[in-house]
Amino acid sequence: MIETPASTTEGADAAALRERARLTFDLDVDICIVGAGLAGLTVALEATRMGASVAVLEGRHVGWNASGNQLGTVMPGYGLPLGDLIERVGFEDARELWSLSKAGADYVRATATEAAMPGISLSEGALEVSNVDAGDQLISRLQMLLEDFATEVEGWQIDRVRTELKTDRYFHGIYYPKAFQIDGRKYVHGLAALARRAGARIFEDTPVVSIDSSGIRKRIVTPSARLRASHIVLAGNVHLGAPLRRLSETLLPVWRYAGVTAPLGDRLAEVVGFKGSVSDTDGIDHFRVVDGGRLMWASPEITWAGRPRRFAGAIARRIRTIFPKLGRIEITDTFGGAIGQTVHGMPQIGQLRKGLWVTSGFGRQGLNTSAMAGQLIARSILWGDERWRLFTPFELVWAGGPAGRAAVLVVGLWNRGSSAAAGALARHRERVRIREGLREARLAEANRQAGTRPAVARRPPPGRPRPVRPPQPRPAQASQPPQSVEPPPPIPAGQDEGEGA
Ligand SMILES: Cc1cc2nc3c(=O)[nH]c(=O)nc-3n(C[C@H](O)[C@H](O)[C@H](O)COP(=O)(O)OP(=O)(O)OC[C@H]3O[C@@H](n4cnc5c(N)ncnc54)[C@H](O)[C@@H]3O)c2cc1C
Repeated sequence: MIETPASTTEGADAAALRERARLTFDLDVDICIVGAGLAGLTVALEATRMGASVAVLEGRHVGWNASGNQLGTVMPGYGLPLGDLIERVGFEDARELWSLSKAGADYVRATATEAAMPGISLSEGALEVSNVDAGDQLISRLQMLLEDFATEVEGWQIDRVRTELKTDRYFHGIYYPKAFQIDGRKYVHGLAALARRAGARIFEDTPVVSIDSSGIRKRIVTPSARLRASHIVLAGNVHLGAPLRRLSETLLPVWRYAGVTAPLGDRLAEVVGFKGSVSDTDGIDHFRVVDGGRLMWASPEITWAGRPRRFAGAIARRIRTIFPKLGRIEITDTFGGAIGQTVHGMPQIGQLRKGLWVTSGFGRQGLNTSAMAGQLIARSILWGDERWRLFTPFELVWAGGPAGRAAVLVVGLWNRGSSAAAGALARHRERVRIREGLREARLAEANRQAGTRPAVARRPPPGRPRPVRPPQPRPAQASQPPQSVEPPPPIPAGQDEGEGA
């Protein structure tokens, strides 16, 4: 079984929220759920609200892994980019899947109220920034989100992004005004409290060691008790292990760690004006301001587990790289967990055999997707809702065991390396453009003062705004022939890079 040290700073409030009850007696229920993370608890809450008797069996404690150690950003969509989703299932099904993902975010918003979960600290807005200068791609994505996928978004130009985030690392951005963030740890414990209140029984320190799902009444074995249930829901993510090892092997475990800085005072407001979550399109940076003056920042994904504290230095270095003006950073809290990544990038939601369900593989975007999955599965079991079938194109694909993990490490490093290279190239191009712009302005000014005009007007490379020229004074000598203002032929792609560098 894969072990994950989850948090170095599990708060006293989280500890207080737990009432650890181990299952020590045999039990008969309608639905037995394996795993008390976001996925299992949402099924539990919804199914009990619909009148089912529910037992949740959790090997450690509520929110032990990723669910209790995440950044709390709630956005529409999946880990799989929208374009890939359309390619995979076609436009119409992609639209339905997307709207389910939005419904998942709405569910979290409706559930995470201050009244139901005191201190949940909901705040609005998320910004997705690009590491490269990709304005054209941004426009087509914006159009698609707005017009075809009914998602409220705004496109932010580079200047706007950099007014809010003082760094030259990020270029354009997509702003999601309806996205939001919550205290992720409070949310998972709040879900458990709501489920208990609705009548679900949650047993902690109760690992499921085997299941027999062949009969109508299925059997579940734990170290000190047995259960019988009509339905079993597997929500154990990468740690499921013995009950259905083949299912665990369809997930690639990747770990993500995060840190929270000591209060940064006024210097934080000078560099980060944006109040919501920020993530980059390459999935490397993900951060937000918390507690009025600290930064909460997630590391990139890695393929091994470590103590969260070990990653504090790397997180601090990354923050300084993006925001050098912040100076020295101290990381006071660290936490993290294992994320279950599927080969196709979409979650595993559905019925494996009659009465045996899976809700897993939510990757780095688990809040809205696990909420949606919880509703779908509870409704399928109790009301016969068949919409989970939209996920059937995303089959259970063996993730390759240790060889798969090695491959994901190489691909991850390669992607990170190529995204860093693309970012560096984009920033280099931008420096060249700025230098060129300054040179042109100086030339124009010199010409203006000398009363001359430049010999040849330069055409800006494609996609670059044409410089606005100051009005040219009339030539001093009437006999001077008119100069050509026609631009020269376009500079072939790539050749403009070296110029002026
Ligand atoms: C650092 C970090 C930041 C993140 N930030 C965000 C974010 O901002 N927004 C977002 O949407 N997502 C985020 N995520 C992703 C999100 O946290 C996950 O997708 C989500 O929590 C997965 O939930 P889960 O219930 O499937 O799995 P888990 O949280 O792994 O829960 C599974 C539970 O099942 C239990 N279990 C497993 N096997 C057994 C067994 N045999 N018997 C009994 N119990 C068992 C485990 O002990 C565990 O508690 C983040 C993740 C990390 C690590």
